[in-house]
Amino acid sequence: MRFHSTRNRAHVVDFAQAIFAGLAPDGGLYFPDTEPNLRELILRAPETCSFDRLAGELVHGIFPEHFDVATALELCRRAFPFAPQLRPLTDQVYLLELYHGPSCAFKDFGAAFLAAAMEHFLAGEDRRAVILTATSGDTGSAVARAFHRRPGIDVVILYPSGRVSPLQERQLTTVGDNVTALEVRGSFDDCQRMVKTAFLDTELTRRVPLTSANSINIGRLIPQAFYYVDAFVRLRPSIASDIVFCVPSGNFGNLTAGVFAWRWGLPVSGFIAATNVNDVVPRYLVSGDFRPRPSRPTVANAMDVGDPSNFERMLEIFGADHQDMHAMIGGETATDEQILETMRRVHQAAGVFLDPHTAAGLCAAERYLAGDGASDASVIALATAHPAKFPEVVERATGERPDLPRRLAEVMDRPKKAIPMEPTADALSKYLVEQHGEEAQR
Ligand SMILES: *Cc1c(COP(=O)(O)O)cnc(C)c1O
Repeated sequence: MRFHSTRNRAHVVDFAQAIFAGLAPDGGLYFPDTEPNLRELILRAPETCSFDRLAGELVHGIFPEHFDVATALELCRRAFPFAPQLRPLTDQVYLLELYHGPSCAFKDFGAAFLAAAMEHFLAGEDRRAVILTATSGDTGSAVARAFHRRPGIDVVILYPSGRVSPLQERQLTTVGDNVTALEVRGSFDDCQRMVKTAFLDTELTRRVPLTSANSINIGRLIPQAFYYVDAFVRLRPSIASDIVFCVPSGNFGNLTAGVFAWRWGLPVSGFIAATNVNDVVPRYLVSGDFRPRPSRPTVANAMDVGDPSNFERMLEIFGADHQDMHAMIGGETATDEQILETMRRVHQAAGVFLDPHTAAGLCAAERYLAGDGASDASVIALATAHPAKFPEVVERATGERPDLPRRLAEVMDRPKKAIPMEPTADALSKYLVEQHGEEAQR
């Protein structure tokens, strides 16, 4: 599979080039230039197949030119020592828990595969990569854990001082080795601006082999298609009805990956795009009018996105045909009150804690099932983060705090290590050249 830019079909690159570049030179996003047919592979996979094995077969099916079967299986065995888990919630609703990885959020799947793929392509080559990324919390911790101790790769993460949760800060600042956290005296927007300026600084990129691992990287998107397939394979023996996936969405990477899985052969009859009040896409689905707006803060803050970056890919999948997109994807929006109410109700009825993002999804799933004509579909609702990552919101909704999983509790005991930095592009550039410049390495 090769990739073209969403803004120029003539600009075509292979997978390795696409993941190290991140963004196409014209500012577009990389998009599959051909569609693999995985239908047979998906229908043949036994329900007992482990997630990493299924992922390996899919990787070979998608990229036979880069990964032979043995290499693909080994790559995924090492990338995925964790797996999704399915939990039946009602007769018709299943939770697909994607938070059993090292940072307790679904972003672990994309980050783990991207890190393994980059390591694979760098092996035996005389070059290094410096991953530079800004985080408001979750992306950074998944990236830090995924790239920890990968040979040939250094990681530099910028985060806004005092504006990430104490747990998130520990997750970012306690990894160490090849992972450095820069604590920026400014906002998340400052961090993003500094990173953007660094990538555009040709003098800097000549001296430091910068690469990005943010959510627009196609190497993070593709592996997210694997858990849609995994859920289908596991549930197929017990479900006779149509299957609909419900996806809590912000930048719409997760949803786009599910739609790719469908295009490549996954038998699914629809998707629900669930948002908080940042509802630019649900509005588009109804009106055909795409109007980005400044984001508004909510209790599901990883979904506070006013101009979703993957919308450009969604448009291309459906040939910019609004009706076609709406036929496959329905939109639902949840207010903070509805999110909290869903968290409280599900905890009371089923004894299950939900994080606020997953609750926005479940709220959407319930509304969808109560609507016309959809009543016998089974809904697989993606659970995107562990509830213990958001203890304040969970307590506000249910009156209780969920137990911290051990891997989260442990980071709270480790000492924080971060380098303070002024919120200027110059400060970042100076740091990068001194610590990671080609000259500094000699
Ligand atoms: C990032 C994130 C989302 C949004 O995912 P997108 O792929 O950006 O749509 C939802 N929930 C959680 C917990 C997240 O961290």
